[in-house]
Amino acid sequence: ASYAQIAKTDESIKAFLTLNEEGARKAAAELDSALQAGGEQGLLFGLPAGIKDNIVTEGITTTCASQFLSNYDPIYDASVVKKLKAAQSITIGKLNMDEFAMGGSNENSSFFPTRNPWNTEYVPGGSSGGSAASVAAGQVYFSLGSDTGGSIRQPAAYCGIVGLKPTYGLVSRFGLVAFASSLDQIGPLTKNVEDSAYVLQAIAGYDPGDSTSANVDIPDYASALSGDVKGLRIGVPKEYMGQGIDPAVKEAVLAALKQFESLGAAWEEVSMPHTEYAVATYYLLASSEASSNLARFDGVRYGVRAENPDNLIDLYRKSRSQGFGSEVKRRIMLGTYALSSGYYDAYYLKAQKVRTLIKQDFDNVFKDFDLIIGPTAPTTAFRIGEQVGDPLTMYLNDICTIPVSLAGVPAISVPCGFADGLPIGLQIIGKAFDERTVLRAAHAYE
Ligand code: GLN
Repeated sequence: ASYAQIAKTDESIKAFLTLNEEGARKAAAELDSALQAGGEQGLLFGLPAGIKDNIVTEGITTTCASQFLSNYDPIYDASVVKKLKAAQSITIGKLNMDEFAMGGSNENSSFFPTRNPWNTEYVPGGSSGGSAASVAAGQVYFSLGSDTGGSIRQPAAYCGIVGLKPTYGLVSRFGLVAFASSLDQIGPLTKNVEDSAYVLQAIAGYDPGDSTSANVDIPDYASALSGDVKGLRIGVPKEYMGQGIDPAVKEAVLAALKQFESLGAAWEEVSMPHTEYAVATYYLLASSEASSNLARFDGVRYGVRAENPDNLIDLYRKSRSQGFGSEVKRRIMLGTYALSSGYYDAYYLKAQKVRTLIKQDFDNVFKDFDLIIGPTAPTTAFRIGEQVGDPLTMYLNDICTIPVSLAGVPAISVPCGFADGLPIGLQIIGKAFDERTVLRAAHAYE
């Protein structure tokens, strides 16, 4: 059914880069015979999943939507892919994204842009745009995405589905192609909150293969979905509801808060005064880390090697010039500049200090509140082509998701209405490792 739906819809949506039909049918047949032989059903038994193309899959081409990796066939599975297999879900294929997860619209894919299933003239968001569009179009039951500054939550909001960025360290990144290692997290994109809880259950947990993996007990997530939010205290940052937020989005968020009130929760306006520095801080830190992480792509170790180099340095230069797209080059140049001697203190070190202040904003609010709620993005999806050539406007779309990433706390985006036929996302943010309360509130609301 998944492949039939893809055949029917993907010509216009273009969510998939690679399909795994033979492998998926084989995996399904194996699950079937194991069941016939009296085996138990796993948590995600038989559920068709799509995987963002920066998560490595053994034997299935993994491109990061980059020309550089267009021929890269990994020889191992990422830890999350192993865990999905153990839970008996089936990998349908690999999903389109902004190249190396840099972007918020899927227009930075070096292959083709994915389109929003609600209106194919509009972007699906990004960078996990393929992951969001494929779930919204009913091609897969759920997908995995990665979120560095909003790349799960923002496309989930634009496509009218549920996207969860777990606490930094909860889900292993072993086998996720690194963008900005102090921020990257993998998480589920699903049709509803209950599915999100189940997929999180399957992928969360300590992994010695990721040195930042948290060694914490994993609670039962689905049992948190009681439908009850009585007594929950919600802080609503005025900085998330002010300038630049579309009035229709603001209205939808206020309506959602009313609903929380009627369910017995209480909300109050709060202030997170360092929010205005978050976007600048993020783009310095993320670009710096990217410039270092992407140094491994040299034409020797991975992917496509340039032809006819004059010497080794020329091989690096040609491979990188030809392999990377323009947004990736922009980030590498920004990051290399910010890390260079003489500028390090003024930019990178300064940004690290501001990051701490931003994190303290969260700590302060969480002293008195259980959750923070606001919009996921300032607007609904924009038209394809509308913001290309204007990276600064594009960067400002991340204003509501980036502070959460810098603080490392969990957040979910759930649908909260429409404006002009396009979905709006509500962002529910929790304390570190308190995914249960985040999921509980999202479930009671949806
Ligand atoms: N839009 C942000 C960026 O371009 C976030 C990307 C992400 O979370 N991977 O960096």
